[in-house]
Order: sequence, then C-alpha cells, then structure tokens
Amino acid sequence: GPSAEQILEKRKRFLGPSLFHYYQEPLNIVEGKMQYLFDENGKRYLDAFAGIVTVSCGHCHPEIVKAITEQNNLLQHATTIYLHHAIADFAEELASKMPGNLKVVYFVNSGSEANELAMLMARLYSGNLGMIALRNAYHGGTSGTIGLTALNTWKYSIPQGEIHHVVNPDPYRGDFGSDAHRYAKDVQDHINYGTPGKVAGFIAETIQGVGGAVELAPGYLKLVYDIVRKAGGVCIADEVQTGFGRTGSHYWGFEMQGVIPDIVTMAKGIGNGLPLGAVVTTPEIANVMAQKIQFNTFGGNPVCSAGGLAVLRVLDQEKRQTHCSDVGSHLMGRLKDLQQRHEIIGDVRGRGLMLGIELVTDRKEKTPAKAETAVLFEKLRELGVLVGKGGLHGNVFRIKPPMCFTRNDADFLVDALDYAMSKI
Ligand code: PMP
Repeated sequence: GPSAEQILEKRKRFLGPSLFHYYQEPLNIVEGKMQYLFDENGKRYLDAFAGIVTVSCGHCHPEIVKAITEQNNLLQHATTIYLHHAIADFAEELASKMPGNLKVVYFVNSGSEANELAMLMARLYSGNLGMIALRNAYHGGTSGTIGLTALNTWKYSIPQGEIHHVVNPDPYRGDFGSDAHRYAKDVQDHINYGTPGKVAGFIAETIQGVGGAVELAPGYLKLVYDIVRKAGGVCIADEVQTGFGRTGSHYWGFEMQGVIPDIVTMAKGIGNGLPLGAVVTTPEIANVMAQKIQFNTFGGNPVCSAGGLAVLRVLDQEKRQTHCSDVGSHLMGRLKDLQQRHEIIGDVRGRGLMLGIELVTDRKEKTPAKAETAVLFEKLRELGVLVGKGGLHGNVFRIKPPMCFTRNDADFLVDALDYAMSKI
C-alpha cells in the first residue's frame, strides 16, 4: 500500500484543513486484530484508545465480521419504508438493556445525530428552548450539538443561543471540589435567572470523555435531575462513551449515579466501528414525535443493525462488563502505584476501562504538564502503545481500550508508562 507520506500528502490536498493527526510522524494503520493495530511496516501496537472509544468488542472481532458479512451478502440497504427484521431485532435487544420505561428506540448514524435528536425531543416535549450542559462537555460537532459542546478548542465563535453551560462538577479541578450540592445550585441558578421557567433539558456525559475521563461529583445527577424535572425539563444522559459495560460496575454510566434519565443517547461502542447511533426514550416523550418528520435514511440499516445486534450479544457472551471491572480495577491499582513513584501524575480517575491519567508539573498548583504529555505520548507510541489525549488543557491520557483488553495488556501499558516517565 501507499506510504504514510503519500497518504498525508493526498489527505492535505483533498481533505479539509480541520483534520489533524495525533503523532509527529503520522501513524499509518493497515490492519486491526482485537486489541492490536498494525502499521504499514507490520509493527504491532497495543491499542488502548479503540479508535476513540469505539471498537468495543475488538478490531475485526470474528463474530461481528461474520454477522456483517452475512447481512452484507443478502441485503445492504432498504430503509424503514419496508419491513426488515434486523432493525426490529436490534431494537428489541437494545431495549432489553434499558431500565425503567426507556423502551422506544430511534436509530441514527453517529453520536452527534443522537444528541441532535435528543435535543429536538426535549424541546418539543417541554415546549421550551433552553438547554443546559456542562462546561467541559463534548456532545458533537453538528450545528446544534456544537453549541452543547463546551470545550473551548472545539468552539466556533457563532452565537449558539438558548444553551447554558453550568459549572463542571469535576472533583479534581472543579470550583467546589466534590460538593454536588454547590454544583447543583448553579443549575438551579441558571434555571431561575438564565432561562426563567423555560428549560427544555439538561444533558451530561456520565463520565466526561473528550474532557479527560472526568467523573461527576457523587450524587450530582440525582440532585440536578430533580431540579430540571421540577422546572419542566427533560434529563438526557449521553452514553456515547460510557455505555455497554465499559465502566465495569454498570451497563450504563448513569447507573453509577443512581438515576434513570428520560432520554439516553449512544453511539461509538454500539457498532464496534460501524456508523451507528441510537436514542432511547419513554413512550410518552417519543409520542411528541409521532406526527412530526423524523426520518433517517441510513439509521439502523440492515448491515449496521446486524452488526449492532452481534455487538450486544458478544459483550454478553464474553461477560465484558465483569471483565472491564476486573481488568479496570487491576489497571487502576497499578496506576495508583505509579502515581506514588512519579510526581508528574496529578490524578488517576475513571471506572472500568474508561480511565484518565492527568499530568501536572506541580501537584499542588495542578499546573498542566502540556509539553511533558506530548513527549510521553510520542514515547508510548515508540514503545508500541497507543493511548488517547484529552482534557481541557490537553494533559490527560485517556485509557479506553477495546473491552477484550487483558490484565497482561494492562501490565504492558503500565510498564511502558513507567519506563517513559522515568526517562523525562
Ligand atoms: N458524545 C460524546 C460523549 C462523544 O464523545 C462524541 C464523540 N467524541 C459525541 C457525542 C459525538 O459523536 P460523533 O463523533 O459520532 O458524532
């Protein structure tokens, strides 16, 4: 195949200038096998980022490949104007994973589309416009969701209107430590003074992903959901990164906070790499869409539905939730140990296989170790380990591998980090 330089050259000529690549010498990936990726020279990498938290079961997992291939050979596309069993089977299986009255499924093609639809539903159902999101949130890049996305680096300077960002309930860097009540009060203040009586909905990731594996202060969602519902708004959980057992302790991230949302959005891991997203809500909320235009040409097409159904079954059969819990706690233990020995590690956080390592030059001041993060990131690649980067200051390593990641893989990752950190 073509070299990295040739691909980069073509990409620069024909693809938009907003594209960026991760490494100084761009990585050219030609093959994937479960938790491993291979470059054009055959070098193997342990993948601890899963194509941005997307390859849930593993690269080219044989069961998923089989399901997609069989459907691909039979029928690729027809749309919902005809009947096809795959979309119905997939919806039934997905609904069986949801608590409470969350039983109505809409299929779309991405996380942005899912959040776009959730926002539309919240506005139609409540009859209000005002949306509340967290500072540091990432909810998408479409013209509606870009307004919900609060990360400065992703913002355009276009007024978004009717979207309010509240103080981030971040126990490490947040204004009020772990005090959920004080963070929740900021939501109440925004409702009282920012959107007087006009709140349509509240949306939050249950662990912030792009924002750097930030766990919300314990008890926060319970308090906020009460406040928002009392004001007539709808509560949306963005499970695009946290869903499907990745957090180990629960199938959905919102369960960690002991709440049941009114609308749940998902994408990424739901398709193991297929373009797929979903919104799940209650019959009551779904009903407001009944007479409206709500149509999606590709959403839940036969190939994606066959793949998505296989993903849900594989995650169950391989007991991935328990596995994420086991490997995640082993990895967390080893990272905490690493933190004892390397001053640069300011914080280690997250659940299951959704972890963050925040690097600082000064633990007390929490000064982001931006330059060091960049150097370590390159060093890890050299050592054959791929991790993600994120956080408000770009100083957080994001560890979110395919869920087939083992304890041995965790040890390999930690040893590589240890070695790299001892060299800077
Ligand atoms: N929500 C969250 C939590 C995400 O991390 C992302 C993507 N990074 C999105 C929504 C948007 O998903 P997509 O890129 O598939 O539109």
